[in-house]
This record gives sequence, C-alpha cells and structure tokens, in this order.
Amino acid sequence: MGVMTFAGTALKNLFSKPVTTSYPAEPAEYKERTRGHIEIDIDQCISCGMCTRACPCGTLSIDKIKGTWTINRFDCIACGFCVEKCPKKCLTMVAGYQEPGGEKGEVTYTKSPEVLAEEARKREEMAKKAAEAKKAMEAKKAAEAAAAAAGEKKDN
Ligand code: SF4
Ligand code: SF4
Repeated sequence: MGVMTFAGTALKNLFSKPVTTSYPAEPAEYKERTRGHIEIDIDQCISCGMCTRACPCGTLSIDKIKGTWTINRFDCIACGFCVEKCPKKCLTMVAGYQEPGGEKGEVTYTKSPEVLAEEARKREEMAKKAAEAKKAMEAKKAAEAAAAAAGEKKDN
C-alpha cells in the first residue's frame, strides 16, 4: 500500500509544475500584502514626526532643518504603523525585501533642493511675521503704559 502511494505521488510530481521557484535566477514573486520594507516619497514629507512617534522600535528619525528622514532597516520590524500614521501618505510598505548587507542598516533620504529652499523661505516668512507681531505687541503695551502714566499725572 505504501509503495503504491509513493508511486502515485512520484508520478503526480513528474507531470506537475515544481512548487519551488528558481530565485535568484528568476525574480521573486511577492504576495500583494507582503511586508517587505518601507519607502518614502521624501518631497511630500512635512517633517511632522508622526511616524517617529508611532514607531515601536525607535528606528526612525527626522531633521527638519536638513530635510532628512532616516530609517535603520536593521531595527525595523515592518509593522507598518508609520505608514498608517503618516498624514501625507508619503510612506509605503513595498513588497520586496532589502538585500542583505552591513552598509544598508541606516538609510537617509533628503528632500530636493527646491523643496528645501521653499521650506527655508516659509520659515523665514513665519519668523518675520512673529517678530512683527511681537514688535506690535510691545508698542501696544508701551502706548498703554504711557496712557496710564499720563492719566495718573492728570489726576495729581
Ligand atoms: S514599519 Fe514599524 S518598525 Fe518599521 S519603521 Fe515603520 S513603525 Fe517603525
Ligand atoms: S509622518 Fe509622514 S509627513 Fe510626517 S515626518 Fe513621517 S514621513 Fe514625514
């Protein structure tokens, strides 16, 4: 009985496609929802830090001024929380895995010069507006103090 079962299985396998693939000779096929690795569309990133706060491994970091987003791929567990939390939807879980290699632990992405220049211009504009608002507030307080002092003088 055992021999018959074996012969049947052997015959079946002879005429069916192999269940294994020829990777790496042929490209790997990933399932639609495979958790491979995280990629970023860096120019869409607003450096809000939501992803860094959501990451349970503390593997992400950002630098607002330099316009960088850094991931340590050795620490990432591909949970996908950062993708869920990103308000700009600029993070994606890509199906393919990273190739192994010591130099690929930490990867930094930097915004394009055009985006960095635009962000610097906006920061300057905001700083200017804040300085003007502060100046106006100080002038208002000085005017109120002067008016109060004048009132006191008149009463005397
Ligand atoms: S997938 Fe998970 S572990 Fe990896 S960077 Fe995003 S939040 Fe962190
Ligand atoms: S959550 Fe998205 S927009 Fe915010 S810092 Fe992370 S990648 Fe950038």
